[in-house]
Formats: sequence, C-alpha cells, structure tokens
Amino acid sequence: MNRLRAIYDFLLDTLFPPLCISCRAQLSREKSFSGVLCFDCFSSLEINAGFFRIAAHGKGNPLILGAALNYQSETARNLIHSFKYEGYYSLSKPFANLIMRHLRLSGLWNFVKKEKFVLVPVPLHRSRLKYRGYNQSEILAKDIRILSGLEICDVLVRKKKTKEQAEIKDKNDRLKNVRGCFVLRGKEVVAGKNFMIVDDVFTSGATIMEAARILYKNGAKKVIAVTVAKA
Ligand SMILES: [Zn+2]
Repeated sequence: MNRLRAIYDFLLDTLFPPLCISCRAQLSREKSFSGVLCFDCFSSLEINAGFFRIAAHGKGNPLILGAALNYQSETARNLIHSFKYEGYYSLSKPFANLIMRHLRLSGLWNFVKKEKFVLVPVPLHRSRLKYRGYNQSEILAKDIRILSGLEICDVLVRKKKTKEQAEIKDKNDRLKNVRGCFVLRGKEVVAGKNFMIVDDVFTSGATIMEAARILYKNGAKKVIAVTVAKA
C-alpha cells in the first residue's frame, strides 16, 4: 500500500470509524474481518454441517450443493446484501473462509480435492458488470482458490441479459428467465472435467441449475455447487 493511501485510510477511519455491518459496533482494521465485520458476529454465524441434494427440474442431473450458511439468518442475509449490492466485496475473504469450513465439516472437501474439481464463477452480463463494477461470484472464487488451491476455469459467459432473479417471485418464471442465458468460452475445456459452480446465494437455484445444465450438456463429468448461503 502506498503512503498516500495509508494517510487517506487513517483520515477516513478517524472521521468515519468503520462499524460492523451486522451489530454496528465500532471496528478497528486489525480486529475485524475485512474492516466490515466484527469477530463476535463472525463467530456467531452457524455453519451448515451437511450438504444439500437438489432435485433438477425435469430430466436433468440432481445437484450436490455446499452452502455455508442459512439464508434465514438475519446476519447472513445482511452480509450477503452488503457484499452484492453495497460494494463490500472484501467480505469475500470471510465468506471463502466459511465455505472452506463448511466443505470440511460436510465431508465434501475430500471428494472435491480427490476428484480435482475446478471452480467456475457464475458470470454477470457485461452491462450488469459495468453497472455494479465487480462480479461477486468471481471475487469469491478467487478467494476460495487462495484457501483451497483449486484452479479457476472461467468457462461461462452470460450472453443474454436477464431480469434480476430477486425481482421474480414465481419459480417457473425464474427458470424461464435464465433458460439459455449462458454460453461457453471454449467447448474443449469442459469435457471430462469436474466443476464446482461458485455463487453468493442459492435461492430458487434456477441460475445455478442452468449453469450446471450447460456444463453437463458440453461433456462435464460432475458438477456441484458451492454458495455462501442457501435460502
Ligand atoms: Zn458485529
């Protein structure tokens, strides 16, 4: 970090001390996760001990899902909202930490490591990426890579601009909204590989299931998914 940046951070912290985005307690950079979450709130998050088996819509393959937290938890919901919509992308570090602990706790980690899964972030459409400035799934995948040593294989491209899934209530409409929204960057890298799709949250699952469908259609061996939380 250069000196100007350090001075700027110091002034900013003095004038506007950072607060824990969950309990609003005053934070110091050293005693917090990414300057946004206090240790107490972080350690109060309950990690799911088991993984989930999600049935596919229609004839598709069922999906194994590792989700670190329960989206019913208010803290988890607030954190994910800040991560996704309020620019707190540094939350990807504690999130990646929680995901790794969940993978170990649920027993998925041995399988993922042995079968050499590669991480694939869920892409945003380029217009949404431009608007938001970052893709939360991609940042999360990079931090999981650092902690796990798994490689990233960024094969998915979002070619169709879809409505925000959060704006659509009906499950079938959500499925229709994302149908055909992904294409591959290069078919040759998919066949025979095992993929772990990375996203922030699993709600109806329509987006992740569509990503899995495209990967299977192009010869992927096994596809599983991992998220910070599941609704
Ligand atoms: Zn807190």
